[in-house]
Amino acid sequence: MTTADRLALLGGAPAIEQPLPHEVWPPPADEAELTELAAQRNTDISIKGNSGPIGRLESDFLAFLDGGARFAVTFNSGTSALLAAYFALGVREGVDVVGPALTYHAALSPVFALRGDVVLADIDPGTRGLDPRALHAALTEDTKVVTVVHQWGHPCDMDGILRVAEQYGLRVLEDCSHAHGSRYKGRPVGTFGDAAVFSLQANKAVYAGEGGILVTNDPGVHDRATLLGHYRDRSRDAVLDEDLRAHWVTGFGLKLRMSPFNAIVARHALAAFPARKEARHRCLRHLGELLADVTYLEPVQVAGHVDMGAWYGYKPLYRPEALGGVPRSVLIEALRAEGMEVGAPSGPRLSTLPLYARPENPLFPGTPKKGIAPEAGSHAEHVERHALSLPTFTDWPGDRTLIGRYAGAFRKIGRHREALVRYAAGPAR
Ligand SMILES: *Cc1c(COP(=O)(O)O)cnc(C)c1O
Repeated sequence: MTTADRLALLGGAPAIEQPLPHEVWPPPADEAELTELAAQRNTDISIKGNSGPIGRLESDFLAFLDGGARFAVTFNSGTSALLAAYFALGVREGVDVVGPALTYHAALSPVFALRGDVVLADIDPGTRGLDPRALHAALTEDTKVVTVVHQWGHPCDMDGILRVAEQYGLRVLEDCSHAHGSRYKGRPVGTFGDAAVFSLQANKAVYAGEGGILVTNDPGVHDRATLLGHYRDRSRDAVLDEDLRAHWVTGFGLKLRMSPFNAIVARHALAAFPARKEARHRCLRHLGELLADVTYLEPVQVAGHVDMGAWYGYKPLYRPEALGGVPRSVLIEALRAEGMEVGAPSGPRLSTLPLYARPENPLFPGTPKKGIAPEAGSHAEHVERHALSLPTFTDWPGDRTLIGRYAGAFRKIGRHREALVRYAAGPAR
């Protein structure tokens, strides 16, 4: 055997020579963006209403949703926008929110700051988002809100979710932070629920650096969310309900507004998004095709009635039974030795985090929680234990060769299955 043919983990030559990082995101700014940022510096560095880049970002965002939402309100982060959304949807002490057991924690954590409670429900292994049947099974007498996250860009089963929500009078919050530009049956995500939030944090497909945007069709949600995070000018000018507008000077106590610099960055990212989305689709479809014959992987499945929009990482599932039972951690070690940028997805199941797991709300000691659903054998646990996170390649055709090398490295591991099994069992570890 030549060294090129031996696993890099065991001293062979790596299959991928291009140095890390392989995922370069967010992309660098062009001249137009830098010029606009510089000009803003010398005009207005704090926008109290929704003039200038703040208002322009909000109207661009509504257009991006095909006019499917009436109001857009920017915030200084997705988490802040989620806090405002939960507040506006009526979360408070005695209110339960049902949400997916496996997602980014900030999708649900703000509920605890409002003294509400979270009930976790299993995911659908097809969409990897909240399963409508699990939602139904998780309902409590106090459930008033359901949160769906279009996880890793794949839209949830919205027909199923909305059917349960309608039957039980639940309000629906869509967390679209992974799913800018994703569509369900032709319609943009973020236009199905009572409110939706898109994080614009740097890793997201449309990025401000730090920022978030809340969209809704409901004037009441708009007014209450605005008052929670935007006192003075913005509330005076935008809150529709006269009685609520009486609070414009103070709002409801918090200031969570976005800086104009972040809004400028986000507007440029939004304008560049359609071309980048297309490139990302080409890259990841190509990767999926090349991985189809790697028996120990389940490539990402995209349902025929959805458009993946942003994607958000590429997360195939590992099938250890097709690789002699080698643990995922050893597979990752071997793939990294081959030069791959790969890991386990970062977020653990929410039930493993103390904020969710402990029997009382730590923000308000003495407030008991209902506790969380047992999850042994759940789909959430399966995905948590078996998913691999690969780069979200976005440069087409620039990344084409590298994508080919990734597929080559996966195949190489498959050819050397026996050696890897021995390594996993051996004293070397
Ligand atoms: C990123 C993210 C958030 C939090 O957004 P920030 O802008 O980082 O505060 C919430 N939910 C999901 C699903 C996310 O991916």
